[in-house]
Amino acid sequence: KRRIAVMTSGGDAPGMNGAVRAVVRMSIAQGCEAYAVYEGYEGLVQGGDMIREMKWDDVRGFLSEGGTMIGTARCMSFKERWGRLKAAKNMVVKGIDALIVCGGDGSLTGADLFRSEWPSLMDELVEKKELTAEQVEPFKHLNIVGMVGSIDNDMAMTDATIGCYSSLDRICESVDWIDATAESHQRAFVVEVMGRHCGWLALMAGISCGADFVVIPENPPSGNWEEEMCKVIKKHRDLGKRKTIVIVAEGAIDTNLKKIPCTVIKDLLTNKLHLDTRITTLGHTQRGGSPCAYDRMLATLQGAEAVKAVLEATPSTPSPVISIVENKIVRKPLLEAVKQTQEVAKAIEAKDFARAMSLRDAEFTE
Ligand code: ADP
Repeated sequence: KRRIAVMTSGGDAPGMNGAVRAVVRMSIAQGCEAYAVYEGYEGLVQGGDMIREMKWDDVRGFLSEGGTMIGTARCMSFKERWGRLKAAKNMVVKGIDALIVCGGDGSLTGADLFRSEWPSLMDELVEKKELTAEQVEPFKHLNIVGMVGSIDNDMAMTDATIGCYSSLDRICESVDWIDATAESHQRAFVVEVMGRHCGWLALMAGISCGADFVVIPENPPSGNWEEEMCKVIKKHRDLGKRKTIVIVAEGAIDTNLKKIPCTVIKDLLTNKLHLDTRITTLGHTQRGGSPCAYDRMLATLQGAEAVKAVLEATPSTPSPVISIVENKIVRKPLLEAVKQTQEVAKAIEAKDFARAMSLRDAEFTE
């Protein structure tokens, strides 16, 4: 029987458990054996009990659980060849030749590198007498399939990453709670949201909550933005609004790539508009809790597709990443998606914000 392993890696995201559940059950339904690698690449490098067979019942109840129940980690040794050599040996020992990784662009880059090195890793294991030629013979190729688990929605070539809508829901709910107290006291709140270098969460939260002003890294405020922000907020107040909400992405920068801390905005609102202003950093509540219906659906459909992609893979097809584009679950070339994702960061670094925005736009509308 074919053995397929599933792993969660990088930052956790709501819906990752649903992905694991779907991969395990689809694998079994397709006549394969399913394995879970615990603690991301760390489990692959350590092997042994960190790579466990999963039966149908082992993933019962996973769909509604937040975080990732098979654990995730950042693993330095997998970035080194010796780490990947150990990981390859552990996979052969367990009889696994296919790996489905649910993680961010770092995790998927690592997975593709592992696949491209695989034949040479096999040779090295035989050379070093860690394994015999007979043992490695059935493991000529490694199949890799990626799934994107991230609250940031920062991956190119997919409309949504597993976890981003749960996180957006949590942010909206939190801002609604803040709204109530802000309105009571006529206060202003500067709310910092997650997203690393991606402004999707901040922008969508701004739209969903009717924020007065949003600051995102792809389109940094330019010129005399301080005055403009104050003008907008004053206009809203003059129209009778009793509260002010400014949403700041954690990666917020100005056009010189200098971080815009929430304190700068707070001071502007306090000193220029004389508003009683507070800062709320939502922090890890944005990653916690039960996944929303959309993320459960996305994880389940993509997990099933990932297993199909493993079974249809050939040695010459590039590793796919499972995406959703215009409501359809599709496969995209993993390396291309990672490359396009990194293009945004490069555009920001080069202060080419128009390009950063158009790359993100292409992502949203692709
Ligand atoms: P994310 O997957 O969320 O982007 P990281 O970038 O931290 O998170 O990557 C998670 C893990 O994936 C790392 O700890 C490391 O083990 C592995 N990894 C990331 N980049 C590479 C790489 N270039 N080569 C090998 N492994 C990598």
